[in-house]
Amino acid sequence: MATKMPKVPVVIVGMGWLGGIIAAELSKQGVKVVGLERGKPRATEDYYMVHDELRYAMRYDLMQDLSKETITFRNTSKMTALPMRSYGSFLLGEGLGGSGIHWNGQTFRFLPYDFEIHSKTVERYGKKKIPDGMLLQDWGITYDELEPYFYKFEEVAGISGEQEQTPMVGKRSKPFPTKPMLKTPILKMFEDATKKLGYHPYMMPSANLSEQYTNPDGITRAACQYCGYCERFGCEYGAKADPVVTVLPVANKTGNFELRPYSNVVEVLHDGKKASGVVYVNTVTGERYEQPADVVILASYVFNNVRLLLTSKLGKPYDPKTGKGVVGKNYCYQTNGGSATGFFDDKEFNLYAGAGSLGMEIPDFNGDNFDHTNLNFLHGAGIRISQTGQRPIATNPVPKGTPTWGAEFKKQSLKYANNTLTVSPQGSSLPWQHHYLDLDPTFKDAYGLPLMRITFDFEDQDREMIKFMASKTEEIMKEMNPTSIGVSNKLGPYNIVPYQSTHNTGGAIMGADPSTSVVNSYLQMWDAENVFVVGASAFPHNSGYNPTGTVGALAYRAVDGIAKYLKSGGMVV
Ligand SMILES: Cc1cc2nc3c(=O)[nH]c(=O)nc-3n(C[C@H](O)[C@H](O)[C@H](O)COP(=O)(O)OP(=O)(O)OC[C@H]3O[C@@H](n4cnc5c(N)ncnc54)[C@H](O)[C@@H]3O)c2cc1C
Ligand code: SF4
Repeated sequence: MATKMPKVPVVIVGMGWLGGIIAAELSKQGVKVVGLERGKPRATEDYYMVHDELRYAMRYDLMQDLSKETITFRNTSKMTALPMRSYGSFLLGEGLGGSGIHWNGQTFRFLPYDFEIHSKTVERYGKKKIPDGMLLQDWGITYDELEPYFYKFEEVAGISGEQEQTPMVGKRSKPFPTKPMLKTPILKMFEDATKKLGYHPYMMPSANLSEQYTNPDGITRAACQYCGYCERFGCEYGAKADPVVTVLPVANKTGNFELRPYSNVVEVLHDGKKASGVVYVNTVTGERYEQPADVVILASYVFNNVRLLLTSKLGKPYDPKTGKGVVGKNYCYQTNGGSATGFFDDKEFNLYAGAGSLGMEIPDFNGDNFDHTNLNFLHGAGIRISQTGQRPIATNPVPKGTPTWGAEFKKQSLKYANNTLTVSPQGSSLPWQHHYLDLDPTFKDAYGLPLMRITFDFEDQDREMIKFMASKTEEIMKEMNPTSIGVSNKLGPYNIVPYQSTHNTGGAIMGADPSTSVVNSYLQMWDAENVFVVGASAFPHNSGYNPTGTVGALAYRAVDGIAKYLKSGGMVV
């Protein structure tokens, strides 16, 4: 039996970036909000003087405990999926702030092309350009409609960036709130090389603050110290924008927000038309609670947003055989590969200093910024160089042909520890009928719920794209004039073991048509008007950029939708 709690207007499941944004904005408007987070509370003090690579980067101290809950994976539906028992391809967040605590802070906006990908592709190349089985669809919103929300997120987080960007990326209504990060000698080398080749480099938009900044909510944060312990770590200075230092203090101050940590939501209660609340388990005592609410917001990252819908039997599950149904559809990832590594025998860089989003990129080969007429792939990749800070355990770059162990390996890895640079693409991932999320029939989590099962592989489209991008990264690296270059231009099958990217998307996608999407452009569920499913689960495909800028913009848009719903009810579009 679950203990029934007093009803509240809004309950949020998951207190990462999106849970935090929605809690802050609604509580500022006077709405009472309860935030349920399965992990523990956190504060900046937790990271004072803790640059411990083994604990955080290698042993994943801030990530979800996979012995309690994980996902299962297979490449095709003919295979039996197995659980991910140790971390590899992506890292899942847990605890107050979610992955927003240990992210890098690279804060891009998706391209105007992304939001209208189907229409724009057909308009330029004709319908035949889209291969059979590729489920490209427009997002039900345009870049221009989302632009004010992009800015809102950037303003709250204090994103640092270059005011003059190339017209190849979406037009900005206002300059970045803070100046760009420092242009280090490495970035200057990339800038010079790419400009010489006729490309359009610009500084990576950064959630690591370039200067002290006070946001419109009155939150003041310090400038980044370029400590290099950013990705996988919390920031001891509060310089990296994360939910705990930006939006959650605002929610707390209103007196309208109640955080309940150690609260794992296991079910969304509903009658098939509307939700009435959620059931959660206290992860310390094992007690069950029912939290009734007028509005339920799922902000529990891609996998748990979709899993909660499926286990709660809310929405129509996707069937990959017929292509019918929507929940679990359009799972996409990020296509990495095609990088060029330069070994500079006669140079020494300062690679151990850096920041999560210290870098430069060119958009020339992302989206539809280049002609795809004679290419066997759609979309593309952002090509970048970044100086995130090498870490002593993880960093062992050696030229091709070096043994992978022993005295020669040690000698070479010491020699090249501080003079190796990499230019890499971050490739888009497009949706296919046979890539999807559903419930695993065999494996369950510690609370008895089926695990989320991923069925995904790279396609020829991805292989062609990586081959093309490798030719570009090699061209840029040659221009940077290293002693020798190593290029990886082949993409094998998707392998869940090596780390690639925590940019999983899809499964509860947005759109203008209820038969092909789960949520509308305010992230309100078509099948349950008082449920909002926020996060990258709403992306119909993944772009060649990191997702959180776009995820944050969509969260601010969802706030407007929730506020409208609380006022008048019904579908808000
Ligand atoms: C190492 C790393 C580096 C990254 N770098 C970048 C970057 O540079 N740029 C970028 O754009 N993105 C980056 N990302 C991705 C970025 O962190 C995510 O896009 C963002 O944090 C997603 O926010 P979210 O609120 O949707 O989910 P999360 O941050 O995952 O938060 C979801 C929260 O929900 C909680 N939760 C889940 N299930 C339940 C449940 N059943 N009940 C209660 N609570 C639940 C979780 O514990 C978690 O706290 C990175 C991610 C990682 C892991
Ligand atoms: S690099 Fe900057 S933002 Fe990142 S953890 Fe260090 S001080 Fe913080």
